[in-house]
Amino acid sequence: MKHSKTPWQKPTLTAHHMGALNKFGRSTNQQYQACFAGVDIQPLLARYGSPLFILSEARLRQNVRRLLQAFNRRYERVTYSWSYKTNYLAAVCNTFHQEGAWAEVVSAFEYEKARSLGVPAEKILFNGPHKERPILERVVAEGARIHLDHLDELYLLESIAREAGRQVDVTMRLNFDSGYTEPWTRFGFNIESGQALDAAKIIGNSAHLQLSGLHSHLGTFIQDTRAYVAQINIMCAFMEEVEQATGCHIDSLDIGGGFASMNSLQGSYLPPEQLVPGIEQYAEAICTALNAATSHRPQQGKNKPRLILESGRAMVDDAEILVSSVVANKRMPDGRRAAVLDAGVNLLFTGFWYNHQVMPTRPLDGIAEDTILYGPLCMNIDVMRASVMLPPLNVGDALVFSPVGAYNNTQWMQFIEYRPNVVMIHEDQQLSVVRKAEDLQVMTAQESLPEHLLHVDGPEQT
Ligand SMILES: *Cc1c(COP(=O)(O)O)cnc(C)c1O
Repeated sequence: MKHSKTPWQKPTLTAHHMGALNKFGRSTNQQYQACFAGVDIQPLLARYGSPLFILSEARLRQNVRRLLQAFNRRYERVTYSWSYKTNYLAAVCNTFHQEGAWAEVVSAFEYEKARSLGVPAEKILFNGPHKERPILERVVAEGARIHLDHLDELYLLESIAREAGRQVDVTMRLNFDSGYTEPWTRFGFNIESGQALDAAKIIGNSAHLQLSGLHSHLGTFIQDTRAYVAQINIMCAFMEEVEQATGCHIDSLDIGGGFASMNSLQGSYLPPEQLVPGIEQYAEAICTALNAATSHRPQQGKNKPRLILESGRAMVDDAEILVSSVVANKRMPDGRRAAVLDAGVNLLFTGFWYNHQVMPTRPLDGIAEDTILYGPLCMNIDVMRASVMLPPLNVGDALVFSPVGAYNNTQWMQFIEYRPNVVMIHEDQQLSVVRKAEDLQVMTAQESLPEHLLHVDGPEQT
């Protein structure tokens, strides 16, 4: 980044309040971020308004290339599939698809979006607990890869396959106790209870379904690589067991997502650089376990299962920032300083879980003080940072929140404010708007008024 040097500032002494959360972390005063992906931020605000989301196409590409390189070096059959729900802006999805990524979708809407972007059905993994007959019929006709979540879906799919006169390859979603994460037992079939093996036998006995893949997604923001080692070992043991019990051939092992991004979970005092494994560390742990667990299978051909990765947040989080401007300063009754910003948890849903890094876009003078950053919503929980050390802010000063690429452009909520522009900085540092700011027309487009409610005249109140 261009502006990596911090200007010299007069040293200051800051009184720390008991219980202040920032004793160990980096202090953000004296640091600033003037540019992103090689482009100055301030002129972008003038041009596209505040708040503003800014994406880096170069970073998206680097992230996927690094992931694929790390895994391809260590295992011979690797497929990466982009988790749409993490950020399904078309520009983000297509950047990943251009890097070879398949699509991992979890709803009819996401499936339709992936198809409308031009992703071939056979490169779409269809996960999730809610797939109804109409979308399953389309998926069967088009040949996308279905990940079964429960028995009712299994029977529904079997009847659709029978009616279509087809044999459909299916993947089973599994859940189990890895010993390192809280098991997400509500998704898929449980291994320990025997439910998964029972379901595999039902598939094995079906003339229309064929079990060809196993899938599990342990959870999200998993910082301990041993969780993945346990996952690989459990899934490979189950693979051998179902192959023996049903005579099926498992062609793919999909280990879902969950790799952590360089973000700070609330309540975690160490900076993410010290806590979050690099992609290579995940790859090393996973591929070592997988190579060991499949070493007795012939090295050549399709007998080595394809390893499918669905990493979401680790691929996109650091490729996007949110820039917000100060609307007002306040002094709270307890003496703490607060600022009201033009972006709140309506835009930064992940603000509920992370202490995002907050940086001004220019060096700020003055003594850093514990500051609360509020959003613009008329809602008490609209807090962007409950506690951050910042020098005095002026109305109009811009603050950069990062990383914000994961789950914010999909989980953002439409509540009292228009959602702002999202721009993408391309590899040649040209810019385009990839999602236009909303306006009244967009907000009301789906509404209609019954005839008798078209006018607003009523009696005068005294
Ligand atoms: C959400 C999700 C992912 C992506 O998870 P991350 O934690 O963002 O990597 C991958 N696979 C499935 C099935 C998911 O539900």
